[in-house]
Amino acid sequence: MSTITAPTSSSAATARAVLVAAFPKGLGAFLDGRTVPGSGEGITLTAAATGEPFATYADPGAEGADAILESSVAGAKTWGEMNGFDRAAILRNVSRTVEAHAEELAILESATTGKPIRDARGEVAKVAEMFGYYAGWADKLTGQTIPVPGPWHTYTERVPWGVVVAITPWNAPLFTAGWNSAAPLAAGNAVIIKPSEFTPASSIRLAQLAHEAGLPAGVFNVATGLGQTVGAALTSDRRVGKVSFIGSVPTGRRVAVAAAQAGIPALLELGGKSANIVFADADLERAADGAIAAIFSGAGQSCVAGSRLLVERSVHARVVELVAQRAARLRVGDPLSADTEVGPIITAQQFATVTSLIEAGINDGGRRVTSGTLPDALAGSSLAGGHWVMPTLLDGVTPQNRLETTEVFGPVVGADAFDTEAEAIARANNTNFGLAGAVWTSDVSRAHHVARQVKAGTFWINSYKTIHVAVPFGGFGDSGHGRSSGPGVLDEYTQTKAIWVPTRAAGAPFPSLSY
Ligand code: NAD
Repeated sequence: MSTITAPTSSSAATARAVLVAAFPKGLGAFLDGRTVPGSGEGITLTAAATGEPFATYADPGAEGADAILESSVAGAKTWGEMNGFDRAAILRNVSRTVEAHAEELAILESATTGKPIRDARGEVAKVAEMFGYYAGWADKLTGQTIPVPGPWHTYTERVPWGVVVAITPWNAPLFTAGWNSAAPLAAGNAVIIKPSEFTPASSIRLAQLAHEAGLPAGVFNVATGLGQTVGAALTSDRRVGKVSFIGSVPTGRRVAVAAAQAGIPALLELGGKSANIVFADADLERAADGAIAAIFSGAGQSCVAGSRLLVERSVHARVVELVAQRAARLRVGDPLSADTEVGPIITAQQFATVTSLIEAGINDGGRRVTSGTLPDALAGSSLAGGHWVMPTLLDGVTPQNRLETTEVFGPVVGADAFDTEAEAIARANNTNFGLAGAVWTSDVSRAHHVARQVKAGTFWINSYKTIHVAVPFGGFGDSGHGRSSGPGVLDEYTQTKAIWVPTRAAGAPFPSLSY
């Protein structure tokens, strides 16, 4: 496999060169340790930074899904029968292999998705950490012995589901592939990643590397292709033990219904509309830094994005000014350039959604505080055709504004003022989502009170956006259910079996067979 060195500029040509280096025979599904081209509908990939197409590949369709499932069922048997110590050793090697290919993976992710290379590097490091962390659990999955009345020895074992299908979105393809595969693999399941049709490359490369690191054939397959074909086939097939889904609310619901009809449980990680609450007693400079990180990293294409900025009225104007100043200084541009902080929107379709929601926010009374104009350097370059949205701050986004409750999934934050703590909490909870949020204050009691009152699976005090594989992550309400990190996730990916053995002293009768 060729080593990819960092190019100096981003373009569709760069993305094409990176893909050719990573996949000499082209893109396709990954099964049984090899890449298999599909034969269905053609899918064209477009470079977010230039708007130019750079690759096409074929959907595998339901027939391809069947072949992938066959391979995964066999893989699940091999892997599930392997002892936890051997699984741990292989997963540790996956972690090391990801580390050894870190720069290659980061460039592949950045060139094919438009994610700034600095963010892509951080996410690759996280993926290595995920495999290392869950490798540590693979040989520690114990059951319990449970005392019961009568002469019984009763104990439990943790049994993998078999085949886990992990459906992932386009905003962080490699990160989410690692996030939803390391734990189920550690628990003894085979995994099929179904990446977004727009961003399949890094998931395939991860599977290739995992295979090279020692995962047996069929244990980590990738079903590239469309949601309505291969995705639908995988989530309604009884050979699948469990589905995990990361994506939008409507698709998540569709997937959960299809899975339920086939008797398959589904773990859902969906969207958010998180509030960042700033009180007057906060360190306002830090709060402004936090507000910037909360919404503009990843160009706002983040499920936990702090897309609402609620500021106590006495400091509202000052905080809006601080955030606007920082937003104007953000370096927007070539994703492969080391100092770029904000890249393009990944797809043309999402670009249209984001720009129309900015208009909706303004029509509903929001006032644009930041400039919407592309920097001259960008407008006059080969990147001019990319899907660029400048970091956007709208002020006066009241509860009646569509941006109060609609997830934009772009670099757009709506600010508003509040007068009381109770009002701030009510505004934060004025959404069906419940993924994340933050409070900025120097009052410890208030910080903990607000943290307890806001409906969110993750909440930060005087901080924003840090997550770690060792800490549970997931949503309340429309943001989903189930947790996808931390030790508890191993319960999501195993079923508990109870085993009863009668014990008796020599000559004593067996215990009753009734319950
Ligand atoms: P999406 O819902 O459009 O697609 C997600 C995945 O579902 C893709 O792989 C797609 O191909 C697949 N899919 C579509 N139809 C399907 C079907 N009928 N059956 C099976 N699979 C199907 O989401 P997106 O636009 O790719 O991602 C953006 C969304 O993801 C946002 O709402 C964001 O908040 C959410 N997200 C959530 C988290 C989280 O952890 N909570 C993380 C990242 C992104």
